[in-house]
Amino acid sequence: MIDVIVAGGGPVGLAAAVRARLAGMEVVVVEPRPGPVDKACGEGLMPSAVAELAALGVHPPGVAFAGIRYVSPTQSVAARFRHGPGLGVRRTALHTALFERAESLGVRHVVGRVEQVRQDGDRVTVDGLQSRWVLAADGLHSPVRRALGLERSAPGPVRFGLRRHFATAPWSEHVDVHWSPTAEAYVTPVAPDLVGVALLGPPGGHFDDLMSQFPRLVERVRGAQAVTSERGAGPLRQEVSSRVRGRVLLIGDAAGYVDALTGEGICTGLRTAAAAVEAVREGRPESYERDWSRATRQYRYLTTALLWAASRPRLRSGLVPTAVRLPRVFGWAVNALA
Ligand SMILES: Cc1cc2nc3c(=O)[nH]c(=O)nc-3n(C[C@H](O)[C@H](O)[C@H](O)COP(=O)(O)OP(=O)(O)OC[C@H]3O[C@@H](n4cnc5c(N)ncnc54)[C@H](O)[C@@H]3O)c2cc1C
Repeated sequence: MIDVIVAGGGPVGLAAAVRARLAGMEVVVVEPRPGPVDKACGEGLMPSAVAELAALGVHPPGVAFAGIRYVSPTQSVAARFRHGPGLGVRRTALHTALFERAESLGVRHVVGRVEQVRQDGDRVTVDGLQSRWVLAADGLHSPVRRALGLERSAPGPVRFGLRRHFATAPWSEHVDVHWSPTAEAYVTPVAPDLVGVALLGPPGGHFDDLMSQFPRLVERVRGAQAVTSERGAGPLRQEVSSRVRGRVLLIGDAAGYVDALTGEGICTGLRTAAAAVEAVREGRPESYERDWSRATRQYRYLTTALLWAASRPRLRSGLVPTAVRLPRVFGWAVNALA
């Protein structure tokens, strides 16, 4: 019998598959989209995500960045990572690197959408395939999570993300985060001739409308061709009542998400994948909820706090000036998330 079916072949699902395979398990990944999977993402891998991937034998091509820089119309402040650089990586390149590693280890891939998950006794049946465990890595709006009744309504402002890429040489050695009164723009170098721009803000509006809130950035990319189409994701905040239901464990965005404001999703997701694989390997699924909480705590607290401040206009307008005045505090926060 299959040991683990992974529902969803995004970065977290594929990393979980690699990890489970390295632990000697028989693994099948079910993913509906064939070929290199693209997604709305800032595409900045934090240093600890780079290290987690390297430990799995995954080395995606990309552009190293030294830290995070906050930019307002009049000021900017940068914080360098203390333990090595992050890496800007196109999602398609990340997918290819993870997919090839999984395949080289003997992970089986099924092109399809998980529709039905049935549990009885010591097995789970996924659309006719039987397995000991299922790891649901099917993203922000996880159909598996919904089918199991594990969704909860999310508090706070509703936010969405949009992204496009511009054919221009990166101009910053950092991931730049531009702040407007209601939105943020993340600029990540992903290739020597390519930068990604991810916009985060309230729902409604197209990429160009939101982008016009950032005149400094618009000026930077003026004349550069937009080489990818607009892609979006959201609502970003997702609350989950429980991350374990019998032999099904939720990982990555499927397990709950706060916001993309701190660029932490992949890093945190990789940690949840590691915790879930360890839990099923040792046959103790009930401990995963606690392990998930521990693995994601720092991200959840810091991102929730920043989001809270960012949603109050007076605090929001003070964020960049405060970071400029207190560079050590800014540096601490950036490195706590790195
Ligand atoms: C605008 C934006 C910017 C971001 N910026 C960053 C950043 O800079 N750095 C960072 O680390 N993170 C960032 N994130 C977060 C990051 O994109 C996610 O945390 C990450 O993609 C989560 O990976 P995942 O594998 O859990 O889910 P996904 O990447 O969403 O993958 C889920 C997969 O499941 C598949 N699937 C869906 N339904 C089914 C089904 N029924 N059966 C089987 N498969 C299914 C989908 O096709 C998909 O391939 C950003 C997010 C957004 C929205």
